[in-house]
Amino acid sequence: MKKIVVQKYGGSSLSTIGKVKKIAKKIVARFKEGNQIVVVVSAMGNETNRLLKLAYRISPSPDKRELDMLTSTGEQVSIALLAMAIHILGNEAISFTARHAGILTDGKYTRARLIKIDSQKIEKALNLGKIVIVAGFQGINHHDEVTTLGRGGSDLSAVALAVQLKADLCEIYTDVDGVYTANPKLISEAQRIPRISYDEMSEMAALGAQVMHHRAIDLARKYHLPIIVKSTFGSSKGTMITKEVPMLENVIVRGVTYQKNVARITLQGVKKNTDLACRLFEDLAKENIVIDSIVQDLYNQDTVTVSFIVTEEDFMPSLKITKEIAGKIGVQKIHTDCNLAKVSIVGDSIAKESGIASRMFRALSRAGIHMETINTSRIRISCLIKLSQLDQAVKALHDEFELSKIKKEI
Ligand code: ASP
Ligand code: MG
Repeated sequence: MKKIVVQKYGGSSLSTIGKVKKIAKKIVARFKEGNQIVVVVSAMGNETNRLLKLAYRISPSPDKRELDMLTSTGEQVSIALLAMAIHILGNEAISFTARHAGILTDGKYTRARLIKIDSQKIEKALNLGKIVIVAGFQGINHHDEVTTLGRGGSDLSAVALAVQLKADLCEIYTDVDGVYTANPKLISEAQRIPRISYDEMSEMAALGAQVMHHRAIDLARKYHLPIIVKSTFGSSKGTMITKEVPMLENVIVRGVTYQKNVARITLQGVKKNTDLACRLFEDLAKENIVIDSIVQDLYNQDTVTVSFIVTEEDFMPSLKITKEIAGKIGVQKIHTDCNLAKVSIVGDSIAKESGIASRMFRALSRAGIHMETINTSRIRISCLIKLSQLDQAVKALHDEFELSKIKKEI
């Protein structure tokens, strides 16, 4: 039986017709090695942003069904163009939207979750010797309506298809040549990480390393699907994402990552024993708002301060909900802070080692950086800091954990 390869090309790899033609050649070469190929594509270049801007010129809160109807068109353009570019090379290819590809989701427009993939049509086309090109990012709900999986969701489409088709590997092609110990645009000594574990990669992606969508990594982990992330047009070996990755004992931190678009909402003077926390976080959850972290502290004898962190994208809707609830139960003051960033160190053994947190805090304070909130998980330590100090913070941590030397260690 032929091997099934699932490849995904991101928007920057498809931003011009010239690039579409180049990709077509790469795909055909892989096909001629004797593989069955399914290609998942994003919209061309900045198309999704362009479409969203059009929508927001009409309304500050466009209807979500219509938003999905709009943004899903980007991927439909790419699949058809790429299929044509393969045809011109004398090969058979067919483009599929999510409806053709049987990608079923729930009904949450703009943030839909995958339910299942009915891949019969894809398999039939593959068995007829065709290269199958699938529109990433989009799905179909139970009412046959178009949904989308959230920004960056075509990674998730690719991984889900690879799992469904029992592919040996999912290849993610992008404009960077792998995952780095820190953003190489910020830290010139940052190193490419040859192998990284699902857990580490998932944390790094959730924390803003823009290489891959964290839901895609979580799905790959669940089914033990190896993923390789590499540059579309470069020659680097990329980064392999797999189960656990051995580290030499003295390498504890795999990478430094950050998230710029975070905002904090603080409610001061909330009466003790009100069910504020329940009501507020219930209402935020109903709107699908993901809370990063919550801190509650005593404010004075009778009241507490509650603060939580959301992404900038969720800030306005979160503030609206917060004000509604605060109005009902009485809160002295609501503070907001949008000029924050979260900087984190990630590594599978962080919790097993002592002294890592103190090294992190010392390195930051030596660089004159004030930590607003600290938050930890099994494999990560994060600090909320001022956005203006972010670059310094990343540099201080990259130096402290000697990540520019990590390549030799793995
Ligand atoms: N085109 C969509 C976006 O820009 C999906 C993706 O690129 O993964 O978010
Ligand atoms: Mg992406």
